[in-house]
Amino acid sequence: MKPDINVLFAEIERLRPDMIELQRRLTALPAIAPESGGRGESEKAAFLEEHVRGMGFSKIERMAAPDSRAPSGERPSLLVTRPGRDRGRVLWIMTHLDVVPPGDLAAWTGDPFVLREADGKLYGRGTEDNQQSLVASLHALLALKNLGLTPAADVSLLFAADEETGSTYGIKYLLDHFPEPFRKPGLALVPDAGEPDGSAIEIAEKSILWLKIRTKGVQVHGSIPHRGKNAFVAASDLVLRIDELNRAYARSDALFDPPVSTFSPTKKEANVPNVNTIPGDDVFYVDCRILPAENLDGVYGRIQAAARDVETKYGVSVSMETVQRESSPATQASSPLVSRLTAAVKTVYGVAARPVGIGGGTVGAYLRRAGIDTAVWSRIDHQAHMPNEYCVVDHMAGDAKVMALLMLEDA
Ligand SMILES: [Zn+2]
Repeated sequence: MKPDINVLFAEIERLRPDMIELQRRLTALPAIAPESGGRGESEKAAFLEEHVRGMGFSKIERMAAPDSRAPSGERPSLLVTRPGRDRGRVLWIMTHLDVVPPGDLAAWTGDPFVLREADGKLYGRGTEDNQQSLVASLHALLALKNLGLTPAADVSLLFAADEETGSTYGIKYLLDHFPEPFRKPGLALVPDAGEPDGSAIEIAEKSILWLKIRTKGVQVHGSIPHRGKNAFVAASDLVLRIDELNRAYARSDALFDPPVSTFSPTKKEANVPNVNTIPGDDVFYVDCRILPAENLDGVYGRIQAAARDVETKYGVSVSMETVQRESSPATQASSPLVSRLTAAVKTVYGVAARPVGIGGGTVGAYLRRAGIDTAVWSRIDHQAHMPNEYCVVDHMAGDAKVMALLMLEDA
């Protein structure tokens, strides 16, 4: 039986007060990572697990990564699953439990952990990043349940720990230690980025290659440079050779902005503390954002070859250390996930959304690497990590409608 969209949307509208109330209760339980001075996700996850059970969902799994820095000793994630008509596939909606610290309290109008409602907005730390989507996904599924509608495929809502500080205790841990649920053929929505009009569906990321480059020369007095080997000068030559890669890698992909690979020398460590010493040791870093079509080993090899040239020219030694290296396959614009999401966004918001690529660094990469087509999409006001962070209630309710249509595969 084809569900009546008007009835579905009316049910989601009826749930608005419940969504706001859940936002209020979640905001009062700040899940801040231990390295940011917080207690982790345990209290928030315990409350949410009870709350979800109270909504009548029975299949709730708690998956925790051990972390001795958290008072509870662990970092829990929650997985809420509802079976679909087709048990052989799954639609993931992944959001995160953790929030970042409020920052400068003087920049906030009220207590960041006491929800304040004004002008159709909910103010508080975490209200947009990522509770707006967490609450929307839960109430989309609740609306289906209340109306007796079965999702087209299994729906798995994942409320993950540790997204803000690297995912070691979140999605990375889950993929390594609880791989079973991720083996089913699946599509995933990660509603943790987007545009204020809901028009951007992110399907690809550039690869990230961060390098630490150390140049060793010979330190001498500033009056006798000819007896030393100036590591700073040699490193500067290497910096310019790396900058040349921005011209050498000419491949372009219109999905991305900018459409090309970028190679940027960035951080610089201090060398000598005084003016009259020739530095014998120099350290700088490079941030490369590389189109998925390029070969990362090839990029690394070219930088290494440039370093060998500099060694020969200046009589120094150059060592390279990889600080971060991440790459993921792109989700194709032709994926059914993209067409269904595009149709749902059009139905709910009347907006023609378009697939885009970004500079890299979302949790979408982990899911794509696990073979799951993943779109990062939500309708948000870019409030993440800001003082006076807010969630627009209309976006929360609207996104819940988009998610419900995705679950039904009916836009
Ligand atoms: Zn987030």
